[in-house]
Amino acid sequence: MFFTKMLIPTLREAPSDADIISTKLMIRAGMIRKLASGLYEFLPLGLKVLRKVENIIREEMNAAGGQEITLPLIFPKDLWIETGRWNVYGKELFRLKDRKEAEFCLAPTAEEAVTDLVRKEVKSYKQLPLMLYQFGTKFRDEIRPRFGIMRSREFLMKDAYSFHTDEADLEKYYKVMVDAYTNVCKRCGFEFRAVEAASGAIGGSFSHEFMILADTGEEEIVWCGCGYGANSEKAEWLPLLQTKEEPLILEEVLTPNVGAVEDVAKFLNASPEKFIKSIVYKVDGNPVVVLVRGDHEINEIKLQSLLGATEVVLADEQTVIAVTGAPLGFAGPVGLKGVKIIADLSVVEISNAVAGANKKDYHLKNVNYKKDYNADLIADVRKVAHGDICPRCKKENLRFSRGIEVGHVFKLGTKYSKSMNATYLDTNGKENLIVMGCYGIGVTRILAATIEQSHDDNGIVWPDNIAPFNVVIIPINYSDVKTKETTDKLYKDLTSKGIDVLIDDRDERAGIKFKDADLIGIPYRVTIGEKNLANGNVELKTRNGSKDSSRLLKPEDAMLEIVKIFS
Ligand code: ATP
Ligand code: MG
Repeated sequence: MFFTKMLIPTLREAPSDADIISTKLMIRAGMIRKLASGLYEFLPLGLKVLRKVENIIREEMNAAGGQEITLPLIFPKDLWIETGRWNVYGKELFRLKDRKEAEFCLAPTAEEAVTDLVRKEVKSYKQLPLMLYQFGTKFRDEIRPRFGIMRSREFLMKDAYSFHTDEADLEKYYKVMVDAYTNVCKRCGFEFRAVEAASGAIGGSFSHEFMILADTGEEEIVWCGCGYGANSEKAEWLPLLQTKEEPLILEEVLTPNVGAVEDVAKFLNASPEKFIKSIVYKVDGNPVVVLVRGDHEINEIKLQSLLGATEVVLADEQTVIAVTGAPLGFAGPVGLKGVKIIADLSVVEISNAVAGANKKDYHLKNVNYKKDYNADLIADVRKVAHGDICPRCKKENLRFSRGIEVGHVFKLGTKYSKSMNATYLDTNGKENLIVMGCYGIGVTRILAATIEQSHDDNGIVWPDNIAPFNVVIIPINYSDVKTKETTDKLYKDLTSKGIDVLIDDRDERAGIKFKDADLIGIPYRVTIGEKNLANGNVELKTRNGSKDSSRLLKPEDAMLEIVKIFS
């Protein structure tokens, strides 16, 4: 492909409303343009990357036994009423009416449509398992569309749905899909982690998120070299037994005008790890006191699933006073009556702890579990913290990173087949609900997230497999006969080997061509200039700066090197 034949409107400056580096670089590189809030156009170069990612995903979905279909982008309201999502989805759902006033929505995801298709076409266990997938535009009226194509209102998703006779078959296939997603991420060439997205308390992991690691990621994840990974909100940790000190006599101390853990700790010259933080919650309307160590944070998601509750909120001041008999800041477990107490696993390990005295301006020293207080439940109710040990290998410290969710695999069970009555007849002719899984990848988001992870001051650094072109050839002066001859031959040789090549044939200064090549992020650059050609050489340079970043080679050798890399 010739640069002059392709619409690549590169820009020196990014528009002022581009809020993250990936958006800035994609716009500057002439890959995307913004039409309106959360709505983007893909230009040829951007679309080329999108298609490469799409093809990798397609190959992996097919290898996992999937069959590609396409579903409409407009869905009738009736289907969404059946599952209840017409109301639940809220304002994120784009709704519209046709000329007869019938109501529809624009697809934000397609469980309803695909379940409808399957309930009509699948009758027997003989037709199962079945996996159907599509690449389809999705519409979501996000509260805050931002970060360019990362959180847009219209985006490309690969959504897949699997249908099974039972949970065991789904479980087996779920693993196949986790592997397929892992292959997609590896082939796309970004650094990623697959993390558990559901707490173990619900009964094993039934959802995994695939995260591209990037400092700018919205999510915090924890992971371990052994393969364990989880969203930090849901991560587990290894409880450690602490060496117990000789229990000392419980002592009340005056702590006037100090309430916050750090302040009391300083005042009493004790470290926050010695502290019992006692927080009053309202769980489905009833007060519950939750105890965590002073240096830890309560994890309300874990608390909610532990108690099987629908609503967990911090108690108001009046409730705190009613439960503890003291104003805010002096709650503690000692002497509490008529209220459920939940202690985190790390709390009961503290010897001679400090806690609120349930009395204004007083704290207690030398508080010990069993001797001075009891708990109705002892469980993991806190967020994972720096220094925690991996719960899986029980050896390494957990590591923390920021990530961008690009894929999500989920065991749906019978959620949709039940509400939509999607059944099959088993070997005995008995009707059963079909068991489902669903699997999404944000194809457009992968582009932005990859750039967040992989760029430098000069522009994008695409991984080899998803770069818009594998190689850019820059003839310094394309009108020079020898240069043109060498350029054209190299182009022909490379393309005949299946290498995707861009020739920058523009009548521009070399500096401008180099800058644009770096901005666009093509992994390999061959520069052909009269000076080096006089010695029979061209220059081969890698975009990522690693390897032998720049070398002079004979054109044939440059060609062989490149072919080797991409074969
Ligand atoms: P998020 O928590 O980021 O809103 P989600 O849980 O709503 O994501 P899913 O419904 O699981 O996302 O959709 C599957 C994939 O679609 C996500 O992993 C993500 O890559 C992509 N995606 C979701 N919302 C958007 C969006 N507004 N713009 C671009 N991609 C998106
Ligand atoms: Mg969302």
